[in-house]
Amino acid sequence: MNINDNRDTYLHKGMRKKLVEAIAKRGIINKTVLEAINQVPRHLYFFDSVFLEKAYEDKAFPIGEEQTISQPYTVAYQTSLLEIKKGEKILEVGTGSGYQASVLAQMGAKVYTIERQKKLFEKTKPMLADLGYATIKCFYGDGFAGLPTFAPFDKIVVTAAAPFIPEQLLKQLKINGWLVIPVGENVQSMKRITRVSELNWTEEVFADFKFVPMLTGKSS
Ligand code: SAH
Repeated sequence: MNINDNRDTYLHKGMRKKLVEAIAKRGIINKTVLEAINQVPRHLYFFDSVFLEKAYEDKAFPIGEEQTISQPYTVAYQTSLLEIKKGEKILEVGTGSGYQASVLAQMGAKVYTIERQKKLFEKTKPMLADLGYATIKCFYGDGFAGLPTFAPFDKIVVTAAAPFIPEQLLKQLKINGWLVIPVGENVQSMKRITRVSELNWTEEVFADFKFVPMLTGKSS
């Protein structure tokens, strides 16, 4: 994506480059992931101009409704585990600011994203279109149910702490598809589930993270 106006200046690009270097230092080696982070103008996602520096710190940041925009390192980590290829159909649970969805779209994925908080959904959907990510399809609903109408997906990513692995999401994966999901209560272990056949799934376990909780039902 290219922002053709003065909202993305050399100053912002320079800050982004430093952020990418910091993430790479922490062990993210996937070049396409780093390049996507280098392209997406994070400062335009719910960051007031007063908080410009915060946009390019490797930290989570409040976006209202008691939610946060994920830490860039965490976004890079989950995106690396997804090994996105152009044209893949991806479901994201927990749209939030739309930042993770934009990184996936920047890599050429066809992104479907679902958010349970109505206010966030209503704020993020037009903002993504305004930023040039009009291909991202936003839905208001409960991610535990996934998006059965649009299934199956090549890959699914959950960006909130899941108390358990939702069965509906497992069923909405293509065969050989992946679900990347942080599972646990206080601390979550990042898991990557592979659907190896119609009725069989295998699991890999990665590092520990801290996410806001995945909650059931919709909130108005
Ligand atoms: N991917 C987001 C991270 C947002 S934090 C980003 O890049 O900014 C996690 C988000 O998951 C919150 O917005 C929260 O409201 C949402 N969420 C929590 N439980 C959910 C559920 N069951 N279905 C859909 N969204 C959910």
